Amino acid sequence: MNKKVKRLVLACFLISAFFMQACTKIETTQVSVAETSADTSPASRETTSTKAASNETVPSESTTTTTSASITSAQTSQSTAETTQKSKAEISAASTTTQTTVDLSLPENGEIDHEWALFLVNQNNPLPQDYSIETKTVYESYMKFKMDRRIADYMIQMISDAKKDGISLIICSAYRSYEKQKAIFDSDVKSYQAQGYSYEDAYAMTAKNVAIPGQSEHATGLAADVLSDECPSLSEKFENTKAFAWLSENAYKYGFILRYPKDKTDITGINYEPWHYRFVGLYHAKKIKDSGLCLEEYIEQQKAGQSQ
Ligand SMILES: [Zn+2]
Repeated sequence: MNKKVKRLVLACFLISAFFMQACTKIETTQVSVAETSADTSPASRETTSTKAASNETVPSESTTTTTSASITSAQTSQSTAETTQKSKAEISAASTTTQTTVDLSLPENGEIDHEWALFLVNQNNPLPQDYSIETKTVYESYMKFKMDRRIADYMIQMISDAKKDGISLIICSAYRSYEKQKAIFDSDVKSYQAQGYSYEDAYAMTAKNVAIPGQSEHATGLAADVLSDECPSLSEKFENTKAFAWLSENAYKYGFILRYPKDKTDITGINYEPWHYRFVGLYHAKKIKDSGLCLEEYIEQQKAGQSQ
C-alpha cells in the first residue's frame, strides 16, 4: 500500500514537473516574439497579432464602429512595440523631464487662460497639414514624449503631483506629427492592398481603426494617452485603476479633460478612451468637468452663447 502511494506521488510530481517546463517554454517563446517585433514589416505583425490583440492597445483614436477584435496591422505592430517598451518604461519612469512649477490658480476676475487651446479636431474639423508647434518633452521612457511647449509644464506638473499621491502615471503617446500619423495610416492601407483589397476598400478598412491624418488630436500637441503601471495598455480596464480615479478627480486642475467619455461616443464619434487627456486650459477644463459636457457640446454651447 505504502509503495503504491509513493509511486502515485512520484508520478504526480513527474507530470507536474513536465507541465511546468512546458509552460516556461511557451512563456519564453512569447517574450522573444514580443521583443523582436518592433520591426514594422507586415510579416512580423502577423506573427504577433494574437498577443497584441489581447492587450487591446490602439495607437490612435478608433471610430465607434470599430470592434477591438479587428485590430489592424499597424496597430498590432505599434501595440506590440508598446507592450515591449512598457516594461522599459516602468523601469525608467519619467526621470529626465525638466521639473517646473506652474501656477495652477485661476485668475479671480474670471479671465480665461490658454484661450487659444480651445478648438476642435475631429472627423469634421481636421487640423491643417501645415500646423506646426514647438514641442517640449513631458515624459521619457524608451523614447521622449513631447507636447506643445506652451502647455507641456502642466503635464509635467500633473505627473509630478500624482507621484506625490503615490500614483505613477505613464505616458504612452503624446505629440504625433501629421507625417507620422500619415506613415502609420499609409502603411496599413498598403498592407490591406497586399492582401488583395482595392485601394478604396483598404482605405476604408484602415480608417475604421486608425485616425485619418489631420483628424488625430495627437497632432495638436495638446493630447496624451496616460496610463499607469496598474494597467499599462490602452484598455478600457484602465478605468478601474487608482490612476484613473486620480485623473478623474484632478486632471482638470492642470487644464486637462477626459476627451472621449463613455456616454458621449455618439457625439465624439470615438470609442470610450479612459486614457486620452486633452489640454483646454484651466478655465475651460473646470467648466467642462462641472458641466459634464464633452468638448464638441461645450464648444457648441460657447458658440451659441456668443451669438445670443
Ligand atoms: Zn490618444
